[in-house]
This record gives sequence, structure tokens and C-alpha cells, in this order.
Amino acid sequence: MIPPIASNFVAGKSAPQALDHVASLNDDGVNGILNLLGEHYEERPPADEDADAYVSLIEDIAGSGLDCCVSVKPSQIGLDVGDEVFVDNLERIVAAGDDHGVFVWVDMEDYTTTDVTLDAYERLVTEHDGGVGVCTQANLKRTPEDLERLAPLPGKVRLVKGAYAEPKSVSYKQKERVNEAYEDCLELMFERFEGGVAVGSHDPAMIDHARALHDEYGTEYEVQMLMGVREDAQRDLAAEGVPTWQYIPYGEKWFSYFYRRVRERKENALFAMRAVLS
Ligand code: FAD
Repeated sequence: MIPPIASNFVAGKSAPQALDHVASLNDDGVNGILNLLGEHYEERPPADEDADAYVSLIEDIAGSGLDCCVSVKPSQIGLDVGDEVFVDNLERIVAAGDDHGVFVWVDMEDYTTTDVTLDAYERLVTEHDGGVGVCTQANLKRTPEDLERLAPLPGKVRLVKGAYAEPKSVSYKQKERVNEAYEDCLELMFERFEGGVAVGSHDPAMIDHARALHDEYGTEYEVQMLMGVREDAQRDLAAEGVPTWQYIPYGEKWFSYFYRRVRERKENALFAMRAVLS
């Protein structure tokens, strides 16, 4: 069992536990994005196993009637083993999503993986005429150019600030500069993306900016936040009528994810400590 503190950030070790969490979220009008924890496999068998787990998760989601999709990390389904292993596995997952009407997001990892991830996304989203989304990172200097390339495609794009420590040559390092880049990318997306914009951020300033751009351009948008972070804001946005999605990690590899969440913000550490003391 996952200790109560960690269960604020991770929905359980198994798919049924994660789906139970989505059911309670859906009651509050918030949709679920399920992510089976796992990354950087160096051998093919665990990558294939996790791809199989996503296919069966997609079947479970379709049978559940829940408002829920999935999000997959490239290195979890074989990118570190070889580009073709990643693409084969992603193809299987996207085909299952297409068969069952379940949307598939592709997370973005460090800058060395951007080209192969976007190439695979472009091919699959075109072949399936939608049903797939990809994440882009505002801290990377290349992202505005990538967004221009992605704009005419039928899928969806999630914009995040970027979670990886990238070299200075390819990325913005200062928080203010990343925020500025995020706002510029949002502007480009609201102007150009007819299929809508996914705002992957907890930052009230970025969400306000998206709201203002929606008023200006009329482009639809959704907000995506992590489980355990600003959950009141997630419910408030949903109540306001903004499509709101919670990214929900689950699985046996919960500890390292939980540890990362606690380390990255003082608020999360205090939150965890309060939960222990109460
Ligand atoms: P920050 O700059 O971290 O915070 C800005 C403000 O937001 C803070 O000042 C505060 O007001 C508020 N805030 C943030 N966290 C908290 C908190 N814990 N409690 C209260 N207020 C808070 N990164 C990738 O590189 N690849 C991915 O595929 C990817 N997918 C993601 C999917 C989702 C749905 C989300 C939400 C994030 C994803 N990320 C991904 C992570 C992302 O890149 C950022 O590292 C992360 O979201 C932190 O940036 P932020 O925009 O939330 O704002």
C-alpha cells in the first residue's frame, strides 16, 4: 500500500485504484490523464510490458465510461532501447486509443528526444486524423518553430514550462525568461491552433494569460495540472466551465515520483509534513 502522504500525489499501485481516483474526480467535473509510472528502460521487455499495460488500460478506460485519457513517456516504451522500439510501441498504443475512443498524450523528455518524439507524433496524428497529443516545452529555444510545424496537424498540443535541466545553448535558464517564453508560445498557439490549446501549468499568471487570449481569439483551451497540486484551483476552473484535466501518476514505481514532487517545492514538503502530523 502507498503511504497516505504519497497518495496525495500518486493514485495507487494498480490501474483499478487509479480508475477509482478518476471516478471521484469526474464527480467534481475534473477529467483524468493516467500515467503509468516508469521511464528510461534500457531493455526491450519492460518497455513492451508497459506498452501492453497502456493498451489494457485503454480498454479498461473505454469500458468504464469515465472522462479519462492516458499520457505516455517515450523512454518508458523503448526510446532508450532504440527509436524504432519507441515508435512500434507508440503505434500500438495509439491504435488501441483510436479503436476505443481514448485520447493518447505523448509526454516530452529532455531536448535530445524532441525530434524523434515530434516525428513519431506527426506521423501518427496524421495517420489517425487526431486522437493524439504531444507536449512541448517553453524553456526550449526551438519551441516556437516546433509550434509552427505542429499548428496545421489535427491533434492537440500541451504547453509546459519544461522539467528537464537542459544545456544553456538550447534553453532559457532564468525563471522570468521561461515565463516570458511561455506567454509568447501561448499567444502563438491561441492565434494558430484551431483544435485548441492545452495549458499544462499551475501558474495563475499563465492561466490568466490563457483566459485573456481565449477572449481575444476565441480559441478553445483546457488546463492540465498534476494530482496533488492546486487541487482547489482545478475544481474551481472546472466549475467555471474551463475543461480541466488532472495528470494522475500510478503504479509500482511510485516512490521516486513522490520524492521528486516533495523535493521540488517547499509547499509540497510542508504539505507532506502536515499530513504526517495530523
Ligand atoms: P512554476 O513555475 O513551477 O510555478 C509557478 C506558480 O504556480 C507558483 O509561483 C505558484 O503560484 C503556482 N504553483 C506551482 N506549484 C505549486 C504548488 N505545488 N502548490 C501551490 N502553487 C503552486 N514537463 C516536461 O518537461 N515534459 C512533460 O511532458 C510534462 N508534462 C506535464 C504535464 C502536466 C499536466 C503538468 C502540469 C506539467 C508537466 N510538466 C512536464 C512539468 C512542467 O514542465 C513544469 O515543470 C511544472 O508544471 C512546473 O511549472 P508550472 O508551470 O506549474 O509553474
